[in-house]
Amino acid sequence: MVDLSVFETLESEVRSYCRDWPTVFNRASGSRMWDTDGVAYVDFFAGAGALNYGHNFPALTDALVEYLRDDGIIHSLDMSTVAKERFLQVFDEKILRPRGLNYKVQFPGPTGTNSVEAALKLARKVKGREQIVSFTNAFHGMTLGSLAVTGNAMKRRGAGVPLSHTTSLPYCNFLEEGSSIGLLEALLSDGGSGLDQPAAVIVETVQGEGGINVASWNWLRRLSELCAENDILLIVDDVQMGCGRTGTFFSFERAGIQPDIVCLSKSISGFGLPMALTLMKPELDVWNPGEHNGTFRGNNAAFVTAAVTLDQFWSDNSFEGEIEEKGSLVSRSLASIAGRHPDLGVDTRGRGMAVGLVFDDPRLSSAVCKEAFSSGLLVESAGPAGEVVKLMPALTIDNDDLLEGLTILANCVDRVAEFESAHPMMRAK
Ligand SMILES: *Cc1c(COP(=O)(O)O)cnc(C)c1O
Repeated sequence: MVDLSVFETLESEVRSYCRDWPTVFNRASGSRMWDTDGVAYVDFFAGAGALNYGHNFPALTDALVEYLRDDGIIHSLDMSTVAKERFLQVFDEKILRPRGLNYKVQFPGPTGTNSVEAALKLARKVKGREQIVSFTNAFHGMTLGSLAVTGNAMKRRGAGVPLSHTTSLPYCNFLEEGSSIGLLEALLSDGGSGLDQPAAVIVETVQGEGGINVASWNWLRRLSELCAENDILLIVDDVQMGCGRTGTFFSFERAGIQPDIVCLSKSISGFGLPMALTLMKPELDVWNPGEHNGTFRGNNAAFVTAAVTLDQFWSDNSFEGEIEEKGSLVSRSLASIAGRHPDLGVDTRGRGMAVGLVFDDPRLSSAVCKEAFSSGLLVESAGPAGEVVKLMPALTIDNDDLLEGLTILANCVDRVAEFESAHPMMRAK
């Protein structure tokens, strides 16, 4: 048995994932993790989207080790380095230009919330307005600006100060009739609505933490049009759903929209190293030198692995085809799990390789995740009540690992369903 006493004694009560997965991990490769007892786990969590290419992808490890051996620059604030030069060139060549996108690249601090803070600050500066519209069940990070556009009540309460200058409106399908975009339109067009003219709208195309809520292409297009018609900037937070997660490099590509500002982090380094970008249309780049900064903007180790990742996976569209194939395998398999348990109150949703198994009763999703851990599968829950079993395997997962994980999951749902039918009184109604 693993000994968790060091963590329980010394680490703050704020720790969370380690409570769901009470073991000590020490090795990882691809879509597998091993604990100190040698137990292997299939990883359907992928660092909450920071490990889209799995753990320790060999070409990335090699590039990083070689860079370290050559005494490559590690820390450099925002000085010009060879590693940053290479990253910018590859990002332009493999990602921006083939998609007809013209963005300038800001390196904020290396986390997702740093990218969001930079985006909000820039939008407010450009428009000279305070108000930002965000959406129900949005998640944009834990610093105060990002929390102010985040929906979750428990996380908002943690702020300890008022979270202001933002308005939360219903996301696609939050309202029964799918009328949320009409509501936004009405609020913007009626001078009596009480909604201050926003500087920007910030949106995730698929809400990850919010429970794999998928915005339709049409909803996103209408949102983009509404923003353009009303002189409002559109910020897409692609921190979790970018870097291929939904099937294309940027999650908004198939909507045919070009957001004014884009936030990227989690998987942009390809290796799980801290790195973030805030992309902005060139005419929005009104920053003064040093007006927004941060000590760890120049994480060169991440630039090295990011450049190799883009080169390796995004030089043509074959990787997109692979993601689509695996995503539809996962969706079919979840649909068959749900279909086998008509009495359990379970449904599926998702896009690409971000897929959720949604339970009416959050206690069941929690039971499934717990059962999964005991059976060697790492999968987390999401959504306002934790009612969604959220599957985010690495995009590079091989078929054997994918099928093994899906089989474990199916067996776990079967066992939870069996327990449910034997103990119906246990179920919250
Ligand atoms: C994870 C996440 C963030 C915050 O990123 P951190 O690196 O944890 O600060 C912001 N937006 C979205 C959509 C995320 O999924």
